[in-house]
Amino acid sequence: MKIICIGRNYIEHAKELKNPVPEKPVFFMKPDTALLQKNNPFFYPEFSNEVHYEAELVLKISRNGRHIEEKFAHKYFDEIGIGIDFTARDIQAECKKRGLPWEIAKAFDQSAPVGKFLPKSQFPDLNNINFQLKVNGEVRQDGNSKDMIFSFGHIIAYVSQFISLKTGDLIFTGTPEGVGPTAINDHFEAFIEGKKLLEFNVK
Ligand code: MG
Repeated sequence: MKIICIGRNYIEHAKELKNPVPEKPVFFMKPDTALLQKNNPFFYPEFSNEVHYEAELVLKISRNGRHIEEKFAHKYFDEIGIGIDFTARDIQAECKKRGLPWEIAKAFDQSAPVGKFLPKSQFPDLNNINFQLKVNGEVRQDGNSKDMIFSFGHIIAYVSQFISLKTGDLIFTGTPEGVGPTAINDHFEAFIEGKKLLEFNVK
């Protein structure tokens, strides 16, 4: 499986990182080795001094597809969860400055903690899903899918023009504002509509 991540999908987050608001989705990938499941601890990597959290809604792809039309995109995912797109912001800044790819800042081992998924059918409106990240019991990010620049359907249609989607792939759909640094001993809890779906410690 592969993990596809959308960057800059919330206007307020694009602004906080001083990035332009994109006209097309920006995406990058993480390998399966980035996945961190079952609420296992995240081990702070030695190569960075500035790892940031980005809480994101995550789609689980349920059918193989390519060149998917936006109007049919809803048939290609059946579960929604929440995950953290951990980013070595110091390394990413260095890569951006030199015009290099971001892989080492984004795709490292354990950089994609993912919690439990909920059936898509539980959500009356996919364009109105509340999600929240608490670190050490304090709310750090509070988002709603209505603030996405590109909808789930648009993302699936766009990405599948270039890269075939396969059953079991995950799509991280972008983070709202409020990203920030993490540190050893932090305790993460992530929620969709008040349900805690992900919880882990940083070691
Ligand atoms: Mg992200």
